[in-house]
Amino acid sequence: PKSTVIITGASSGVGLQAAKALALSGWYVIMACRDLEKTRRVAKEVGMPSGSYMIIHIDLASLESVRQFVRDFRAIGRSLDALVCNAAIYMPLLKEPLRSPEGYELTVATNHLGHFLLCNLMLEDLKKSSASPPKLVILGTVTHNPDELGGKIPPRPDLGDLKGFAEGFKEPYTMIDGKKFEPVKAYKDSKVCNILTMRELHRRYHESTGIVFNSLYPGCVATTALFRNHYPLFQKLFPLFQKHITGGFVSEELSGQRVAQVVTDPAFAQSGVYWSWGNRQKKNGNAFVQKVSSQARDDENAERLWELSEQLVGLK
Ligand code: NDP
Repeated sequence: PKSTVIITGASSGVGLQAAKALALSGWYVIMACRDLEKTRRVAKEVGMPSGSYMIIHIDLASLESVRQFVRDFRAIGRSLDALVCNAAIYMPLLKEPLRSPEGYELTVATNHLGHFLLCNLMLEDLKKSSASPPKLVILGTVTHNPDELGGKIPPRPDLGDLKGFAEGFKEPYTMIDGKKFEPVKAYKDSKVCNILTMRELHRRYHESTGIVFNSLYPGCVATTALFRNHYPLFQKLFPLFQKHITGGFVSEELSGQRVAQVVTDPAFAQSGVYWSWGNRQKKNGNAFVQKVSSQARDDENAERLWELSEQLVGLK
């Protein structure tokens, strides 16, 4: 039988192209998406072969929806060989925070807490896989890392002492560090959490389960809908800037192929690492393991974030 991969946020951008690449390479793809109608349409539009995928509803902002997704997936009776945590929101122009159904700030709730719960629940399924090895991949980004050129533009991510999480992350708290609401920083913070989660999953479970946990930076995919909430002029100029000035531009198709490669290619069997193709795109450039930011490689941070996240998603 075909191997099965779940991809969150497969209705757009990187996730959609990854779904396509994996379906074309013989995998059975579960597209875990919040908008079923849209997902049905775009899957056809990009030419995913019928019979190569199934769409199951998930709203990562809602913890109940994540739990329901897991029940729905188990009900179809397939093994799970890889999980790709890709969905994300980025809302740079927000003046006031939005809240998840549980009352958490929406960016961190969607990008981090929803995926944190999903990963924890689906470990059971991945453990039963006969794939060698099963994989759990979380999308990262260069903007998590102020030590790199692409991550230097302020505001910088900073989880601080995790006060916002420790205090329960509901009103009046909006940021993980407990400070003033800053939507761009909320996105970057959430991506630092994604990497810390990947590293802590590795530390806790790689040896005992054989599951490979890793992250990747697919390159700057400046055309995706991730930037839909930005100024229209930014949406127009950003791809041009990345193409002609920084040289960081990566097409949606190539970014999806990179995700698929990390899932299927035996060259990506190392666990606990963050893959990158660099921020300047060279022809035939190969992937390499890149050092993550100092906050994202802080083991104490990872453990504390894990414990607080467990409480926030109701695992403890
Ligand atoms: P898109 O906005 O194109 O895609 C995001 C996907 O996430 C969409 O399918 C969207 O669904 C889905 N999504 C958003 N919120 C939810 C939710 N609550 N529940 C379920 N699904 C949801 O962004 P990209 O493809 O650019 O980004 C994908 C990943 O790649 C992200 O993790 C991002 O951080 C990462 N990345 C992107 C880079 C880039 O330059 N674009 C660079 C580095 C990393 P819907 O279609 O319904 O909106």
